[in-house]
Amino acid sequence: MALTDAFIGLGSNLENPGAQLARAIAELATLPNTELAAQSPFYRSKPLGPQDQPDFINGCAWLKTSLPPLELLDQLQAIELAHGRERLQHWGPRTLDLDLLLYGNRVIDHPRLHVPHPELPDRDFVLRPLLDLNPHLALPDGRYLSELLGRCPDNRLQRLEPARNPGSLPD
Ligand code: ADP
Ligand code: MG
Repeated sequence: MALTDAFIGLGSNLENPGAQLARAIAELATLPNTELAAQSPFYRSKPLGPQDQPDFINGCAWLKTSLPPLELLDQLQAIELAHGRERLQHWGPRTLDLDLLLYGNRVIDHPRLHVPHPELPDRDFVLRPLLDLNPHLALPDGRYLSELLGRCPDNRLQRLEPARNPGSLPD
């Protein structure tokens, strides 16, 4: 069964965002016909659009999957719903946003799904964690993500230290 590299962008700014992301990544790891290859560090970013909302926490997950793209999108939306996501306001606060950023080298133009994610080139909070996962990543049109990062607006990203696992702390 051929596995495709799929990159998922995660974002949250409500109800303990760091925990929302950590839980969502654990859920991605249990999707059918899918393995979690790696997860990026998390970043704090300023909200786009309305500023009267909390900062976002963002990160990316690298999956290896044989789910077709629309089935993967269905799974992402089911996880969003399970996290109590309601679509209240465009660019407004949300408990969990899961975006399919890249799916192998595919270009997908479907009413429900655009891949590569159209806003990827303009978002440092997506490009930075993707580059942490693989500094050589490029879009299907050949543009390197590292080049795009140099040109995109600055959302004052702040890299967060990995959460300590209390079970691994010395006495
Ligand atoms: P945004 O992520 O831009 O803030 P939403 O998460 O509310 O917006 O997504 C709205 C719609 O975007 C979804 O219903 C989905 O069908 C569509 N969509 C199109 N392309 C993608 C993609 N690459 N990843 C996730 N959703 C996508
Ligand atoms: Mg989304």
